[in-house]
Amino acid sequence: MASSKLVDDLRAVVGKANVLDAGLDLQLYGYDAYLVERRPDAVAFVHSTEEVAGVVRACNRHGVPFVARGGGTNLSGGTIPVKGGVVIEMIRMNKLLEVDAANLRARAQPGLFNLEFGNQLAPHGYQYLPDPASQKAATLGGNVGENSGGPHCFKYGVTTNHILGLTVVLPDGEVAELGGKAPDTPGYDLTGVFVGSEGTLGICTEVVARIVRLPEGVKTMLAIYDSIEAGSQTVSAIVAAGMIPATLEMMDQLVIQAVEASLKCGFPLDCATVLIIEVDGLIDDLDRQVQTISELCQAHGAREVRVAKNDAERAALWAGRRGAFGAVARITPSYLVCDGTVPRTALPVVLRKVAEVSKKYDLQIPNVFHAGDGNLHPLILFDWRNKEQQERVMKAGTEILELCVALGGTISGEHGVGIEKLDAMRLCCSDADIRAQLLVKRAFDPADLSNPGKIFPKPAEQEVGHGRA
Ligand SMILES: Cc1cc2nc3c(=O)[nH]c(=O)nc-3n(C[C@H](O)[C@H](O)[C@H](O)COP(=O)(O)OP(=O)(O)OC[C@H]3O[C@@H](n4cnc5c(N)ncnc54)[C@H](O)[C@@H]3O)c2cc1C
Repeated sequence: MASSKLVDDLRAVVGKANVLDAGLDLQLYGYDAYLVERRPDAVAFVHSTEEVAGVVRACNRHGVPFVARGGGTNLSGGTIPVKGGVVIEMIRMNKLLEVDAANLRARAQPGLFNLEFGNQLAPHGYQYLPDPASQKAATLGGNVGENSGGPHCFKYGVTTNHILGLTVVLPDGEVAELGGKAPDTPGYDLTGVFVGSEGTLGICTEVVARIVRLPEGVKTMLAIYDSIEAGSQTVSAIVAAGMIPATLEMMDQLVIQAVEASLKCGFPLDCATVLIIEVDGLIDDLDRQVQTISELCQAHGAREVRVAKNDAERAALWAGRRGAFGAVARITPSYLVCDGTVPRTALPVVLRKVAEVSKKYDLQIPNVFHAGDGNLHPLILFDWRNKEQQERVMKAGTEILELCVALGGTISGEHGVGIEKLDAMRLCCSDADIRAQLLVKRAFDPADLSNPGKIFPKPAEQEVGHGRA
């Protein structure tokens, strides 16, 4: 529980109604889309950079940790206040501040939902490309925190490739501008350091994002396969043939069945897997792209390639893909979303091995993922209330990440480390690497108040210790 003095100080900054400290309220901010819970001591709703700075300064005075929270949709426990303290809820800082079409950039507050950002840019003829499947509920600040990806990131790059500048409140309450509107800034690329730092280096309160023209046209295809091997081989074949579609997503049979049971999007129930492939660009070139990719799919074993005939058919395919995690949640009490990457050429072998892990641990593991990026999301289904199953799931998840690393990939494609993958960091980072990253953390946050307990495995944290690096 927060001290009454801390609560008074927070209320002095954001107003009485914008601080929660009652048990049930706190419970609601003690979990995210990962599997563990820990109540904060207080929640503060902020509306401006000044309020964020004031709340952070109050936390410093009381020596209390704080964690920024957007939509709370992250899958690695990033917003769990593992050491207690204050959750700083950013969701009311949700305005699009400026569309600067001539300079291809827009300025927005971090609590703006990713989809809403897109909806507000569209009438100007522009779009923001990173598009996590959670885009209805995920905020720009959370996208920055996790360096989020999404279906379009295969062709266009992840969040870090689209953020030009950030206004941030540093962990001691000072306000800094990182990057900016100009194409490059002298000195270290601190914008790049901040993106993906999972709230551990401070809180961003404004985002300058790259925007691009909406494409003249798009076409969406569904390639249907009777074998997962054939579907996954097609992914590399498309890229090797010089085609880079806007999206290249994969869903297997169990996911399709869950999607059809809840959303009825028209996916075939009897196939092993599907690829959802979208091409974009000049209208005159779309048919050529569709033709080439369809032939490649058929040459690699697709039993059928369907092309969406209109917006409604296209929307149905995307409703199924974007709704897949939610649909799977209807068929199981809990699931662990693994998030590893492999070189896309290794997709056939890693999917075969994930199936072996599923057998070995006697757990169902459907797959829905960003195939073009080699970014896997095996979903390990289980019941969190069953302790023995929990242990099996964690072992299976670790084994999948080990496989990814052994195949030349890594332990996170887009969901971050959070608290989920603290130990897994050692699978892909040397001691020197982890130490160098911790020194960056210490330079920004010597008192270790900004989202402590995330990213760094324990012994390394103790080696470097606290205080200025
Ligand atoms: C159904 C579903 C589908 C998903 N699909 C995708 C996907 O396709 N691609 C993908 O990459 N992810 C996906 N995710 C994961 C998640 O949606 C993303 O990580 C998203 O960007 C998190 O946004 P959020 O607003 O919910 O952030 P939160 O969960 O609130 O926070 C995430 C992290 O960012 C930090 N943070 C939040 N706001 C700020 C801020 N203003 N300044 C600094 N740090 C901040 C937090 O402290 C935390 O560490 C999915 C999740 C779900 C539940």
